[in-house]
Amino acid sequence: MSETGAAQTTPLEERLIDLIKLKGPITIADYMSDALGHPHEGYYMRQNPIGEKGDFTTAPEISQIFGELIGLWLVEAWQAMGAPESFNLIELGPGRGVLMEDILRAARSRPGFGKAAQVWLLETSGRLRLEQQKRLKATEAKPLWADEYADISPGPSLIVANEFFDCLPIRQFERIKSGWRERLIGLNEAETGLAFTLASTPPPPEFQLPEITQSDVGDIFEISHPIQTFASEICDTLNEHGGHALIIDYGHMERGFGDTLQAVRDHEYWAPLASPGRADLTAHVDFESLAKIAIESGVNAHGPVTQGRFLDRLGLPLRVETLCKGKDEATAQEVRAGAARIAAPQAMGEIFKVLCLSSSGLPTPAGFES
Ligand code: SAH
Repeated sequence: MSETGAAQTTPLEERLIDLIKLKGPITIADYMSDALGHPHEGYYMRQNPIGEKGDFTTAPEISQIFGELIGLWLVEAWQAMGAPESFNLIELGPGRGVLMEDILRAARSRPGFGKAAQVWLLETSGRLRLEQQKRLKATEAKPLWADEYADISPGPSLIVANEFFDCLPIRQFERIKSGWRERLIGLNEAETGLAFTLASTPPPPEFQLPEITQSDVGDIFEISHPIQTFASEICDTLNEHGGHALIIDYGHMERGFGDTLQAVRDHEYWAPLASPGRADLTAHVDFESLAKIAIESGVNAHGPVTQGRFLDRLGLPLRVETLCKGKDEATAQEVRAGAARIAAPQAMGEIFKVLCLSSSGLPTPAGFES
């Protein structure tokens, strides 16, 4: 993808310029929260961003096989938990509801699963909630929606999050000669637009940034407090009530340096500060830190493994052949092309990782065997 497109000044940008003039530069996290989640002007609130017709597409939107394999994985995980008669099937950031629809269809192979599952959808966008409601109407699930994780009633849980953690706000720190400085968003010289700047004082020690000796001038280090909070909340659920959380996202296996903040609009890269509210903003997920939070809280962390490897282990090739059987050549080609996009290394197979957090005492879930 190339970075293209003419930026327009958006109402949100004007609001942010006024705010910065008044109070000074804001954090990247504040910018992301507003650009994505502002109740009127936020990206997820204003339009339907997902799918071929939206700005970006996701694995469940590309191939039904993605959700079907995850559905069968969930059934197996539920059985390994002793098939509890009631449990929470939670999806974080369900988009248009396609993944949950595919999960529920595949899981019909074990009728007890659907009966036992209380589907919970954590979603902030009213527009996307409506889409989810429409799509899931035909299923036997009677979903409940939550604005915040704490609204979900406690219980044994199977949690799925696909491309959810990457849209949670991050903060960035840049290494200068004397130490770390937070990268903030201020104004350009003419005060007509947004521009990156650096804080004038060092961040507080509780940010636990890497040692100066282990970094070079110009390095960027990212931290996401909302990811840390979600991870802790999920681990509390798993520790208290048992279950698994399957987290699938763009990201890196190991903590490192780099600026991963990126914007996408109409399937093209976009400058992150251009037209806030009109482009999707994401950052790569730091899977090492996520796994560390889990392990420190007593939860087991399996993986991360690459998405391609995970799907292959769950039987992607066989599922492709089953779906192609008896189909005309064009349909079969489409099924194969979709499967290749979600699993091939040069497409989504390598850059996307899968991490499973599991309460202690449960067997290693499928796809994570060493
Ligand atoms: N999982 C979907 C969509 C990913 S897009 C798919 O794979 O197609 C991110 C989703 O997370 C959207 O539904 C968005 O509205 C939702 N979202 C973003 N930030 C959120 C937050 N803080 N709380 C709840 N939902 C959020």
